[in-house]
Amino acid sequence: MSDFVVIGGGIAGVAAAAHLAPHGSVTLLEMESSLAFHTTGRSAALFVVNYGGRASRPLALASQPFLEGPPEGSADGPLLSDRGALWVADEGQADQLALIAGDGVASGAGSRIVQPDEMLEMVPALRPERIAGGIYEPTARDIDVAALHQALVRIARGNGAEIRLSTPVTGLAAIGNRWRVSTPDQTIDCTAVVNASGAWGDRIAALAGVEPIGLQPMRRTAFMVPGDQSYSRWPMVVDVGDEWYFRPDGVQLLCSLCEEKPAEPGDPRPDMEDVALAIERINQATTLQIRSVSSQWTGLRTFAPDRELVIGEEPTAPGFFWLVGQGGTGIMTSPGYGALIAAQVLGLPLPEDLARAGADPARTSPTRFR
Ligand SMILES: Cc1cc2nc3c(=O)[nH]c(=O)nc-3n(C[C@H](O)[C@H](O)[C@H](O)COP(=O)(O)OP(=O)(O)OC[C@H]3O[C@@H](n4cnc5c(N)ncnc54)[C@H](O)[C@@H]3O)c2cc1C
Repeated sequence: MSDFVVIGGGIAGVAAAAHLAPHGSVTLLEMESSLAFHTTGRSAALFVVNYGGRASRPLALASQPFLEGPPEGSADGPLLSDRGALWVADEGQADQLALIAGDGVASGAGSRIVQPDEMLEMVPALRPERIAGGIYEPTARDIDVAALHQALVRIARGNGAEIRLSTPVTGLAAIGNRWRVSTPDQTIDCTAVVNASGAWGDRIAALAGVEPIGLQPMRRTAFMVPGDQSYSRWPMVVDVGDEWYFRPDGVQLLCSLCEEKPAEPGDPRPDMEDVALAIERINQATTLQIRSVSSQWTGLRTFAPDRELVIGEEPTAPGFFWLVGQGGTGIMTSPGYGALIAAQVLGLPLPEDLARAGADPARTSPTRFR
């Protein structure tokens, strides 16, 4: 018996567990033999408010205090480090630039329009003939994802949560006002289940007899190329058309094609054609002359049909809570949505800091699909 069962040990599951554990007994079940094996361990590790669905931006803003000052004893060092993000546009991309600039101002991230001269000062490797203008978000930062995940695990465990690895959930049944969660070895009864299973979200719902949301996992590949110490102060550089990005990572550059290719839940591997195309595009836009790759990986960014997060109780199945559809923003928003899902499971009002940041639970509620 446990008050709450959380399914999934990625960032979403541990964020839920950390926020629920002070209020009741929590059991987190993860099918893999290690936590963060899937999408959480494969991100680009950025905190960029002006990115993703409209509903995720307040959650990113609300996550900032935790990321800047995690609770005492939960982290051994800072979770964020300075970076900045620079969107670059060529002559033909003025409309996209205007759109992102509008969003940037509205999102409260302090974004501003920058001219080519300033852009070249920030990133001398940009080709002057390819840039007509840009947007700079000074508050964008790198996240130490492993440390953030670990901080949430420490908070959860410190409050008594039990985390079981190599424990796939194989069945879910509503019995009276409780849920019975089955694994190959045991059953656990609880009052609420949190479905934080990422790309598997609709499959977990199917086990519970709950109608799917229509979640779509999308492949995205990232790769490292050898760099140089002089790159280390550059901001992340993003094409406004979302065709490529790169950012320094130590003395390497982390690069991506920004592709979105539908996939089944699983453990995807990189397609070297995507890597080659990203290199071609980045080389066209810069003087980097990338020729070799030191490592590459692919993760699944999972989206709801409207590309907003899905957070809250399933209206057709009381006690079954969704925490899925984080797409490309699930790391930076995790302290915020952890607090939101906990309030919903506990039947509490929207926490004040989330309300102040502009979070609107109706926009992320699964009810919008029913
Ligand atoms: C290339 C790339 C770049 C990205 N960059 C960023 C970024 O810069 N900033 C950002 O905020 N986000 C970024 N993201 C997105 C972010 O990584 C995701 O939104 C986030 O990791 C999703 O976390 P999750 O916990 O929902 O999923 P996951 O980490 O996939 O966790 C789900 C877990 O559920 C488990 N599970 C599934 N089925 C079962 C079952 N039956 N029983 C038990 N366990 C089960 C899985 O094993 C898995 O561990 C990026 C993603 C990619 C791929």
